[in-house]
Amino acid sequence: MTHFSERVEQVSISGIREVFEAAGEDAINLGLGQPDFPAPDHAREAAVEAIRAGDADAYTSNKGTRELREAIAAKHARDNDLEVDPANVIATSGGSEALHIALEAHVDANEEVIYPDPGFVSYEALTHLAGGTPKPVGLREDLTLDPADVERAITDDTAAFVVNSPANPTGAVQSPDDMREFARIADEHDVLCISDEVYEHIVFEGEHRSPMEFAESDNVIVINAASKAYSMTGWRLGWVTGSEDRIERMLRVHQYSQACASAPAQYAAEAALSGPQDRVTEMVDAFEERRNVLLEGLEDMGLETPTPKGAFYAMPKVPDGWVEEVIDRGVVIVPGRAFGDGGQGYARISYATDLEQLKAAIDVMRAATAAVQ
Ligand code: PMP
Repeated sequence: MTHFSERVEQVSISGIREVFEAAGEDAINLGLGQPDFPAPDHAREAAVEAIRAGDADAYTSNKGTRELREAIAAKHARDNDLEVDPANVIATSGGSEALHIALEAHVDANEEVIYPDPGFVSYEALTHLAGGTPKPVGLREDLTLDPADVERAITDDTAAFVVNSPANPTGAVQSPDDMREFARIADEHDVLCISDEVYEHIVFEGEHRSPMEFAESDNVIVINAASKAYSMTGWRLGWVTGSEDRIERMLRVHQYSQACASAPAQYAAEAALSGPQDRVTEMVDAFEERRNVLLEGLEDMGLETPTPKGAFYAMPKVPDGWVEEVIDRGVVIVPGRAFGDGGQGYARISYATDLEQLKAAIDVMRAATAAVQ
């Protein structure tokens, strides 16, 4: 008899995938979680050069090349005002692997992991895979996570809580005061704060601050990636930054499951991090323009939408049957409930699509709204 682990039986394939499969070939896809821009040329070239020179054929150090980790440390100094030793960074296969090794290294069987609901789908799934117990926490009206709610949810069994700002699926940006509170909570309750900062650069209003800047203990670790900042989702290159002890434990998981991140991708990410950053600004400007067009369209239809201040998602409150109606009419969006019970009654719309398609999709949504009302 085939036997599967209880842990894996608690996880199913993401609801997002189901929506894509239901969509027709000509559908406009507003379901995707990746920027629609090319990766920077200098990143691609660096990988090509490394491949041609034969520098990318072998395993790198388990943590990643020294040069990449130095570029990540320089990025922390530049963007987060954090002094990070390159030894305290592990390059991973995307932010996804970084989240995975963080939970594997810190969560014991039946320990609790607190995360935002609605929230990125991996938090619940990876908690199950680590043998832990998911503890989703609902959001404020503006779809940010209230530190007070996190603090209330902490028990003796809490191993970690996840903060994600700017957030998927809401586009919400936590205030610097919130981030300071998250750091205090991690310090005072001696629980780990996993700060998922993969959308760090995509902020239109407010300011991104990392809770790591405010923590007095080593109870904050940061997850980040080249994926969203440089439109490099396919390259699979992320990282985790933490204290020496924590990095050493996460490295045990990474060493046996991954050995090292893909070498060509490491060269590309090093160049992306160290080279000109104008592509990032270009992308953020384009996202902001699209966000404004989408928000205006949604408001016109009478759909209440908490203003997304970052990332490239909007999450309007939608009437029953709206998501299905929009998908039937050829625009792929994701029902909010795919991101947790707290997403019920919402839809996630990704605007990582050019303006022309976005405007066509808004027309479809307007017709769908009229049809279901
Ligand atoms: N965190 C969040 C909040 C995300 O939205 C994603 C990707 N959708 C990831 C982590 C993982 O990113 P990567 O592609 O680098 O694995």
